[in-house]
Amino acid sequence: TKTLEIRDLWVNVEDTPILKGVNLTLPRGEVHALMGPNGAGKSTLGKVIAGDPGYQVVKGQILLDGEDVAELEPDERARKGLFLAFQYPVEVPGVTIANFLRLALQARHGKEVPLTEFYGKLQRAIEVLEWDEAYVTRYLNEGFSGGEKKRNEILQLMVLEPSYAILDETDSGLDIDALKVVAKGVNAMRGPEFGALVITHYQRLLNYIVPDVVHVMMDGRIVKTGDRELALELEERGYDWLKEEVGA
Ligand code: ADP
Ligand code: MG
Ligand code: MG
Repeated sequence: TKTLEIRDLWVNVEDTPILKGVNLTLPRGEVHALMGPNGAGKSTLGKVIAGDPGYQVVKGQILLDGEDVAELEPDERARKGLFLAFQYPVEVPGVTIANFLRLALQARHGKEVPLTEFYGKLQRAIEVLEWDEAYVTRYLNEGFSGGEKKRNEILQLMVLEPSYAILDETDSGLDIDALKVVAKGVNAMRGPEFGALVITHYQRLLNYIVPDVVHVMMDGRIVKTGDRELALELEERGYDWLKEEVGA
């Protein structure tokens, strides 16, 4: 099976260690959840996988289908099948959602994508998400709410059809409808060629996206890996018992 593998990853921000030897393997065909208390380093891991230049990779590898992409630019990672939510400017005046998506799809494949092919993908995504077609003729992110930005991100996920997606859903400002949109998109994408890492502080999202594997991060390391039951246990008991158990 092809995998996205994080191997002994150490990351600093301004010389302060944030990730301290992260190991995690996400095979295609699976959905993994990454949970953990605030400040554990979850978002940092997501950003480093995406190639955010604000973080220094001190040591370790990010293997995308066996190839180390730790030194590659974000757009190169995207071409290799990694989904980076809104790698492009968030407000592009005069560009509709549909046009933006076509450009992103062409960037991903490094070639022109015929209109009919593009519209086929767009149509299917709109149907799954139960949206009106008028939505995609709107201009990109002009005055969009947090929920609408989330919608766009998921539409982008479905049209681009990446091999791996990392979705950071820690925004507690998102309402239940926005979480359901995320779940619809991820669940529709599920299949042997797609792997997702869903980062979340709360268990609630995992009622809609049932993960195959749950990882818990504390203090810059994965301290426990289990199945869905682990998420339910954390929901019930919090994180303190686990902190004691692993000595974090
Ligand atoms: P989580 O997503 O698990 O809540 P984060 O990855 O956001 O955790 O943060 C982990 C730690 O790294 C926190 O102590 C945070 O303050 C620090 N950190 C993350 N990004 C930056 C940054 N750009 N500059 C300074 N500190 C950061
Ligand atoms: Mg946080
Ligand atoms: Mg976070």
